[in-house]
Amino acid sequence: MATIITRFPPSPTGYLHLGGARTALFNWLYARHTGGRFVLRIEDTDQARSTQQSVDAIFEALEWLGIDWDEGPYYQSRRYDIYNQRVEKLLETGHAYYCECSTERLERMRAEALAAGGKPKYDGTCRERGLAAGPGRVVRFKAPLSGTTVLEDVIKGPIVFQNAELDDFIILRSDGHPTYNFVVVVDDVTMGINHVIRGDDHVNNTPRQILLYKALGADLPVFGHVPMVLGPDRTRLSKRHGAMSVTAYRDMGYLPAAMINFLVRLGWSCGDEEFFTRNDLIAKFSIENIGRSAGVFNPEKLLALNADHIKATPPSELVPHLAPFLAQRGLPVDDTAYIEKIIPTLAPRSKTLVEMAEAARFYFETDIAYDEKAAAKFLKPEAAEPLALLTANLKGLADFDEPSLEAAFTDVMDRSGLKLGKIAQPVRVALTGGTVSPGIFEIIAVLGPERTLARLEKALAHIRG
Ligand code: GLU
Repeated sequence: MATIITRFPPSPTGYLHLGGARTALFNWLYARHTGGRFVLRIEDTDQARSTQQSVDAIFEALEWLGIDWDEGPYYQSRRYDIYNQRVEKLLETGHAYYCECSTERLERMRAEALAAGGKPKYDGTCRERGLAAGPGRVVRFKAPLSGTTVLEDVIKGPIVFQNAELDDFIILRSDGHPTYNFVVVVDDVTMGINHVIRGDDHVNNTPRQILLYKALGADLPVFGHVPMVLGPDRTRLSKRHGAMSVTAYRDMGYLPAAMINFLVRLGWSCGDEEFFTRNDLIAKFSIENIGRSAGVFNPEKLLALNADHIKATPPSELVPHLAPFLAQRGLPVDDTAYIEKIIPTLAPRSKTLVEMAEAARFYFETDIAYDEKAAAKFLKPEAAEPLALLTANLKGLADFDEPSLEAAFTDVMDRSGLKLGKIAQPVRVALTGGTVSPGIFEIIAVLGPERTLARLEKALAHIRG
């Protein structure tokens, strides 16, 4: 089978939103799954609305998601020569013609058609006039007047369009700008795209595009139109339902792996599996399993997936994702080995990297600040003895591994006659400043002798006033 070539062609008129990211992901996954190629194309012919800032935001979001491209980015604004050649070809082969109908006349026709309850449609005045190029003239596509055009959609099944409903649409405006459907087809043909997976808001463009493929003598790609993403209230997903920009989720502490997992499940399934790593998805993705019904955006599900991915990601891989959140809080990020040790203690209890960074604060503090209530309750005179005993025991430890720490605590229990709980809470407050934290042995193992002993001694000094 020929190499699968897919594409993602965003219009750079804003940030990359969730729906666009899902489209990019489906195309990228299909290319990666089949060992094919993935092309990135910037559809910036709408000069008034396209911005470099938006192009950069799209790159940034794709890079964060780990969606890489094999070809491009191509920019439509730099491909006018190619479009003009294809206009010439369609003119030469009789598939297009110049039209000089005035805007006023077209407007009037349009208004009359709408008033009569019909669909506005070009009446074909210039269709057989054989006009040459000239100022103010547009080029129109000579669409078939009868018959049907069938979109064999791999997701939706066949969709039949009456050609009589499609008019002789403009492919080149009088100002020299080619139109949307035309440039998309020229690009897809010249870039060898053979699979087009996109949102079903493009279904109505497709019959015109199919006619253009045929007129250009090109093979049709496989088309698959994916249902739109809906909000929890089942209306089309919008800002009302939460952040729409992909990178907003990065900034809220989501992992790209979780985002990808979440996005892919908004339209694709594999039995009743929910958790997928990037490699799982590359191995399992298929167009056949893209669903026909709309995916519903569920922020709780995204959060739960994020927690699962935080747990499943090896600490060394999590470090670069966590580091910016630590840095934002003024915490040091240079000692990656230390951060790597911290992560497993926090991963089971963190749903986002923001939560993880917040919970990590105490590991870095040089002078632990006590939560007032916690200190009042647990750093009391009766805690002095067990804390002092523990300090002495830890000083004698060669190794801060769990069995050694356990033995040190057991010895304190034996000698003070106190239960572990009575000892652990004052120690926890001494080491973390509060009463909620990972397991006490885990914390001590991460903090190591120097930090642990300094904190225990500070707590003793606090108790002794
Ligand atoms: N540029 C179009 C968009 O952003 C995509 C066109 C296509 O996929 O054919 O919606």
